[in-house]
Amino acid sequence: MNTYYPGNPLILKILGTQKGNPDDCSHLSAYTVSQSVDGGKLFYNSLTQEMIWEADSLLQTDSFRGYLYQHRFLVPDSLEESRLVSQLRELLPVFQRPSGSQCYTIMTTLDCNARCYYCYELGRARVRMTEDTARQIAAYIADHAGGNKIVLRWFGGEPLYNSSVISVICSVLSERGIPYESVLISNGYLLRGEILSAAADLWHLKQAQITFDGTAPVYNRIKNYIHADPNPFQTVLNNVKAALSKNIRISVRLNVSEENLADQFELTKFLLKELPEERNCLIYPRMLFEYAGNKISVRSKEARRKLTSGLIELMTLIAGHGRLDGIPLQKSDLTSSCIADSDSALVITPDGNVGKCEHYSESEFIGTIADGVWDEQAVAAWKAPAPYYDFCSSCTYYPMCRRLRKCPERFTCNEEQMALTNAELKLIVLQEYKKLRSRGTGTAD
Ligand code: SF4
Ligand code: SF4
Repeated sequence: MNTYYPGNPLILKILGTQKGNPDDCSHLSAYTVSQSVDGGKLFYNSLTQEMIWEADSLLQTDSFRGYLYQHRFLVPDSLEESRLVSQLRELLPVFQRPSGSQCYTIMTTLDCNARCYYCYELGRARVRMTEDTARQIAAYIADHAGGNKIVLRWFGGEPLYNSSVISVICSVLSERGIPYESVLISNGYLLRGEILSAAADLWHLKQAQITFDGTAPVYNRIKNYIHADPNPFQTVLNNVKAALSKNIRISVRLNVSEENLADQFELTKFLLKELPEERNCLIYPRMLFEYAGNKISVRSKEARRKLTSGLIELMTLIAGHGRLDGIPLQKSDLTSSCIADSDSALVITPDGNVGKCEHYSESEFIGTIADGVWDEQAVAAWKAPAPYYDFCSSCTYYPMCRRLRKCPERFTCNEEQMALTNAELKLIVLQEYKKLRSRGTGTAD
């Protein structure tokens, strides 16, 4: 047997090994992803986060079945697994130590140099951060760093459309000796020249998420940039290559709808060819018009089902090249869903308001950076969990899925979304196994 992930130590400690006998009515856990590969079977459990592989010839041995049972890949028929997950969720906050490091999502501007028709910022005031506000934010961050590394997420609007304030914040942190690194959510158009140099050297930019809406003709039409540029697609592609050459990881987000699905296949093939063997450039597709930013009526179940199978096909193509970005298989923060319910994350708007969710720039504030005092009731409201659905009991992702009542992005789920998430998990598990195996990582028993 080869162990690729030993499992999350805290979860294993709380749960302990499963007592009993695998031959007394047991079945594969709803949270076990298993698939045949390389003359054996790969198992990953989304509850324990353990990943193992065993040769076909040894799958039925008593010792391997015993292992599967003790490590919860197999569970007794009598076990109500979702109840076990609920108990674990209650216990985790008691045992998990806070990480200490703080994450700040900073909206430098709500303005943008592109004019995508689907933008969720449409109709909102186009506020830009001033240098004074940037200094105030930097001072707050430095005063509350407590010796920990800070993670800065540049968000907008288009954050690079007001990049000077990023440099102001990073210069102050640098002068005060605060360790930090940053990530960027951007259309990537301005990520070149002096801005790219500042990103690599001053902002300590480690990763940029850049959205592509299709191949050049589709992209150029949808993005509708304000710049006089005959081919913005090529500009962004060149910027991606330049950023990669500076060791900035790129996560390409493909917005997919019924209209551009076929074109996104073309783009994916193009990107895989254009950026071959590029380990630092991963790709992930997301369904457009389902959640936050949805200004167009939600699609019918049949339309969603059709688009879901197209997306799974697209993810399979990407994963086949080892380039699918998505669900992290080893989650270290087990108690929060996202920045909104995390005690170590804040969102700051261009005018210095502080919130918890990046999708709110005009409301839902918990305070201002100038006051530095948070409305605890508002903070607590962001932690309220959303109820699960009946179909969640058969979702492989359930132990990792935390849903918030106030989340505009993931509040709703449906069976198509579940199928998509489960397919993504399976593909990511296989992709990760292949990577680890090719590197010779994995402990043999
Ligand atoms: S992804 Fe959807 S189906 Fe799965 S557990 Fe979460 S809410 Fe339920
Ligand atoms: S949209 Fe949802 S997932 Fe995203 S930050 Fe807000 S609450 Fe979290």
